[in-house]
Amino acid sequence: MSDFKMIINGQLVDGEASSFDVVNPATEKPFAQCPAASHEQLDQAVAAAKAAQPAWAATPIEERGAMLDKIADLLVEHKAEIGEILAQENGKPLPNAIGEIGGAAVAWTRNTAKLRLPEETLKDDDDALIKVHYKPLGVVASITPWNHPILILIWHLMPGLLAGNTMVSKPSSMTPLSTLKVIELMNSVLPAGVINCVTGEGGLGRKITSHDDIAKIVFTGSTPTGINIMQAAAPTMKRLTLELGGNDAAIVLDDADLEKCADNIFARIFGNSGQTCAALKRLYVHESKHDQLVEMLAERVKKASVGAWNEEGVKFGPVQNKDQFDFVMELIEDTKAKGGNFVVGGKAMDRDGYFIELSIATDVTDGMRIVDEEPFGPIVPVIKFSDTEDALRRANDNENGLGGSIWTADEEKGWELAKRLESGTGWVNQHSQQMPFTPFGGAKMSGVGVEHGLHGLVEYTQLQTLHMNRKGGAM
Ligand code: NAD
Repeated sequence: MSDFKMIINGQLVDGEASSFDVVNPATEKPFAQCPAASHEQLDQAVAAAKAAQPAWAATPIEERGAMLDKIADLLVEHKAEIGEILAQENGKPLPNAIGEIGGAAVAWTRNTAKLRLPEETLKDDDDALIKVHYKPLGVVASITPWNHPILILIWHLMPGLLAGNTMVSKPSSMTPLSTLKVIELMNSVLPAGVINCVTGEGGLGRKITSHDDIAKIVFTGSTPTGINIMQAAAPTMKRLTLELGGNDAAIVLDDADLEKCADNIFARIFGNSGQTCAALKRLYVHESKHDQLVEMLAERVKKASVGAWNEEGVKFGPVQNKDQFDFVMELIEDTKAKGGNFVVGGKAMDRDGYFIELSIATDVTDGMRIVDEEPFGPIVPVIKFSDTEDALRRANDNENGLGGSIWTADEEKGWELAKRLESGTGWVNQHSQQMPFTPFGGAKMSGVGVEHGLHGLVEYTQLQTLHMNRKGGAM
């Protein structure tokens, strides 16, 4: 395994607070060491970003976009090498890790590179010129989670940089190594100090969220951490984009075409072993379709191959870490204790690693932990309903509001019901899907702000209104 270094002011550096183990979740054993930054090194990274920011902001956006395109070329070139690191630290199968880098991460980078900030003229006559324009904020810090470390990193960094900010990245300590490698590549294209990366524990994240010289935090992670960040950021009035937890409901109506949608529903539940913010996490199914859909999903579970990142033909990996494994097992035990039934799965796999069988629970209802809480693992509750309005009320009766979906053969009915979901995204006959041009963000406790496309880009800017009086006197 190659050497991993942090990036501060264009230099590759070791951690002054020593280093820590990164564990492979398929073996439960450390496979590499990650540098740990001292608080002084974080200050150096922020100072470097601050010093580099005026020149970066003065670089034409076309040139900044061209550099992002060069980064996309490098991601393509190095996808296999970085994919191998990502697969080992995160647990996802190697083809998925390589695909995430060479596919989605590259697509997002190239699409973001093409975006341009608008300048709007509100008045232009003999009396006055009034325009709105968008300026970079300064130094932006990105704090990322462990489930899709590279994709989410790209979602944070690319619009932030394109808008003229300089950045400091702090990845999750569970999966920091692929991030260090991606930022090393970015650093080879960008001027020194424009992108910096610090890794480590010991309150590094907390220091970032209250740092005087950081103008904005873009954070993806759990809702409790999002609340802590909001509190810590308040005294310095930092701008925030918070992409937090989800407990997305899907409602399958009595007219849904199960032959058409079962594969997709299965994939949206279990993709990345359920460790996706907008995975389908509560499945409400009309009583006329319940048994058939459960059977179709169970058949697919039985054929699914769960294993380690480098095992042949594996489609689903382990849960990423011990705490998450323990939490998912706790939900399984609670479901059994409350009378729930696992038609498939419902137990850990008999091997080393944080492996849990893909699991489908029936005879479950709202008020049980498996329904009310975000599992973030390979388990799903299937809840029977008879009345659509009741299903919609139950779907909305949750503090989270990331996404939700309606599955039906009636497009108009699906559209109208999707509008009534209390979520940042509503899908019809689809779930989890995001594209570089589709704004994505949470309602309620699932977050603040949106990412992707122009809506996401302007979140990395300060809107400024400029007035010019052309008459000279009082208007
Ligand atoms: P987490 O909140 O535990 O950690 C996320 C990051 O925050 C890590 O880098 C961590 O080191 C850092 N951190 C922890 N405490 C901090 C603090 N007080 N101040 C600053 N930084 C701090 O989340 P996780 O367990 O890594 O990720 C799983 C969660 O992320 C799930 O709830 C999932 O739904 C959510 N998620 C949301 C989205 C979205 O787009 N809405 C996407 C992916 C994951």
